[in-house]
Amino acid sequence: MAKIAINLATGSLQKEEIIVGIDLGTTNSLVAIIHPDTRTPIALKEHNSSSLVPSVVHFDAYGNVTVGEQAKALLITEPQNTIFSAKRLIGKSYNDIKSNASFFSYKVIDDNNQSLVKVQVGNKFYSPAELSSFILKELKQRAEHILKTPVNKAVITVPAYFNDAQRQATRDAGKLAGLDVLRIVNEPTAASLAYGLGLHKDEEKTIAVYDLGGGTFDISILKISNGIFEVLSTNGDTYLGGDDIDNAIVQYWLQQAGIDEEALKENSAFAQSIRLAAEAAKIKLSTNDIFEGTLNGDALTITKKVFETLVKPMVDKTIVCCTSALKDAGLAIKDIDVVVMVGGSTRVPLVKETISNFFGRQVNDTVNPDEVVALGAAIQADILAGNNKEVLLLDVTPLSLGIETMGGLMDVLITRNSKIPNKAARQYTTHKDGQSGMKIGVYQGERDMVKDNRKLAEFNLTGIPGMPAGLPKVEVSFLINADGILVVKAKELRSGIEQSIEVKAQENLTDGELEKMLMDSITYAKEDIATRALVEAKTEGEQLLETTEKFVQKNVAHLSKEEMMATAAAMQALQLALTLNDKDIIHTKVEALNEISRPYAERIMDTAISFAMKGRAV
Ligand code: ADP
Ligand code: MG
Repeated sequence: MAKIAINLATGSLQKEEIIVGIDLGTTNSLVAIIHPDTRTPIALKEHNSSSLVPSVVHFDAYGNVTVGEQAKALLITEPQNTIFSAKRLIGKSYNDIKSNASFFSYKVIDDNNQSLVKVQVGNKFYSPAELSSFILKELKQRAEHILKTPVNKAVITVPAYFNDAQRQATRDAGKLAGLDVLRIVNEPTAASLAYGLGLHKDEEKTIAVYDLGGGTFDISILKISNGIFEVLSTNGDTYLGGDDIDNAIVQYWLQQAGIDEEALKENSAFAQSIRLAAEAAKIKLSTNDIFEGTLNGDALTITKKVFETLVKPMVDKTIVCCTSALKDAGLAIKDIDVVVMVGGSTRVPLVKETISNFFGRQVNDTVNPDEVVALGAAIQADILAGNNKEVLLLDVTPLSLGIETMGGLMDVLITRNSKIPNKAARQYTTHKDGQSGMKIGVYQGERDMVKDNRKLAEFNLTGIPGMPAGLPKVEVSFLINADGILVVKAKELRSGIEQSIEVKAQENLTDGELEKMLMDSITYAKEDIATRALVEAKTEGEQLLETTEKFVQKNVAHLSKEEMMATAAAMQALQLALTLNDKDIIHTKVEALNEISRPYAERIMDTAISFAMKGRAV
């Protein structure tokens, strides 16, 4: 029996091809490689410019896309079509982000359900993965320009707390940018690798990685043993970072000058310049005792002493998080062997001092804190390429494993290159009222539609007790044992009925076929993701029509004549849109129907919760 595992160093990789490491950050992104001659990691940059690319995407009126510094310059003056912090949306539903909706100055679609969020720019809708893919494309192009060679393979980092959906969406972003994402690596793991931690087999260490970036703060406690990183705990504040320091400086200046905060709202050009001046002041104060600048002829001054009184409350907040992270890991300060500093904001001396004092030791800060994650990703890429013989390569799944969901889509449970043994589970629900059976189709491959992947098995979970659509909870679990045998189990959690099947996933698959499947996923990435977006839009539209229909029938007595007519018209428009293969038109009509039904749904139900899909239907 062939094992499902394949050694990437000898199997699907061409030796000479470069694999880059990418830090796809909330604020800044960058690419790094292992220099082929010196064998040391370096961040790629054009002559005389920074390695950092601001993670900002701007769309002009004609749909042209610019990424980076140029886009960042338009953030405040063109808020509706300049997208920042797309990483905060990736893999999330509107429900996940609605408490922070006011943070986004562009339009995040509120369609009141649990499917993934979309961003609207003009009359186009983008998924966060698409937005991130624009950043990755820019990075790929820059790398190709600097290296003068095609770049097709990458390792991309994500925060340690990213869930399955967020990791999958990051992979999709890579695929859309034409990158084969060999592995998704945790940012704190990458940062540790950049300090040479975890590269030796017998090393056992407990590491605290303190990451204060532009808009987020993360503390991760990791343990390495036998060359494997384990995340013991994570903590942090997803709305605390360098941006808050900049804001505090702006507030201070406004206060000094006796200017009302409202002035910023009325004059976006002024708001933009004073923000940029604040960031410049902050950077200057990392190495100087005073910042003296001017804006429109007026003096802008701030001393290090004042600056530190502004920063101190923020640093204190991070200490609270560090304490919680230690507690969650079941550790005391003395158990931490190494402290690693990550993120541009750790350049602030007060931050370094405070953290060093808290942990009672010197912190690791010799590697450039805004490059350290990308440098570590490059080291991981080099290990995957088989160039670092000292590090042991674990058995991994050569292709992703998943099941078929509505519309023939592939829903991946175990991504390719996952360590073996492995397990994963996800919940699904029914689509029709009283549905008593569910077909579970098991597939292997990287394409978005199951018809383009390899079918491994199919079985029926039967005997689901009669319930309204969306109520049954069917947990599908995948278990791959050390021999590469996959066991797929489906269990309806309310009734306890279950069914399982054994699959030998690797059988009859040659290396050549494997290679082709991987190549195809990149070649057809654009079409695939477009198809997925369309199928998802159609499914959403169909389900909305069904729930609206049901709702209206049930509540006909509570609706006015105008409401009935408007609803019927919007439903008809959506029905018509579903016959066109254009996801943007479908989304527009879904939005329009939601706009009409939301007020009466809320009036009748108090909340519009019943309108939300209760889970993914199979
Ligand atoms: P992210 O990981 O969120 O993408 P980065 O690690 O690139 O973010 O950090 C970006 C933040 O670091 C910005 O707020 C930037 O102003 C800040 N920063 C960069 N250099 C310095 C410095 N010398 N002193 C203080 N803050 C800095
Ligand atoms: Mg970062």
